[in-house]
Amino acid sequence: MSRPEAHNLMQARNGNPEGDDALRMIPNWSIALAILVFAAVQVLFHHVLPHQKHDMLPMRLLMGYSWGTAFASYVLLVGYVSRDVKRRKMTAGLWMLIVILMPGGIGAVVYFLLRQPILSRCPHCRTEIAADFHFCPQCQFQMAPVCGQCYRGVRITDAYCTQCGHDLTEDHTPSRLRAYSE
Ligand SMILES: [Zn+2]
Ligand SMILES: [Zn+2]
Repeated sequence: MSRPEAHNLMQARNGNPEGDDALRMIPNWSIALAILVFAAVQVLFHHVLPHQKHDMLPMRLLMGYSWGTAFASYVLLVGYVSRDVKRRKMTAGLWMLIVILMPGGIGAVVYFLLRQPILSRCPHCRTEIAADFHFCPQCQFQMAPVCGQCYRGVRITDAYCTQCGHDLTEDHTPSRLRAYSE
């Protein structure tokens, strides 16, 4: 197997085709908007809202900082979801509406509970596959070690199938699967 193919397989087994660097998942527009929102909240607290007579400056600073951070984080979260929803092949428009419109971040919680697993591609034929597939549905490329008799998943270090007792050393599991067993 060629090196790029091995690399693809590694990514396929991690269920992680684009890498999960969370910072790279946040688009630039969302970072810019978050900074703007934070600044706007500071202006709101220090210049727009009416100052009361016994108003304390530390309190005002703290409130501005807390609300600014909260709103800015929410903008970053919406940015993250806007990218995440696409790589999971979910209905982008619908989920963005839910995350933005449901109050108090409930939409985001619902999103993280219900989001689909990341699809990756078969290293051999590029068919889309889910993380729990043992074989590619199109070309039979083997992604995970399985029992040669009952075809349930096994650990590469097992000598016998835990489900049917089959002797796994008879299966001649492809050696490439051993490299990713740790
Ligand atoms: Zn395939
Ligand atoms: Zn078995």
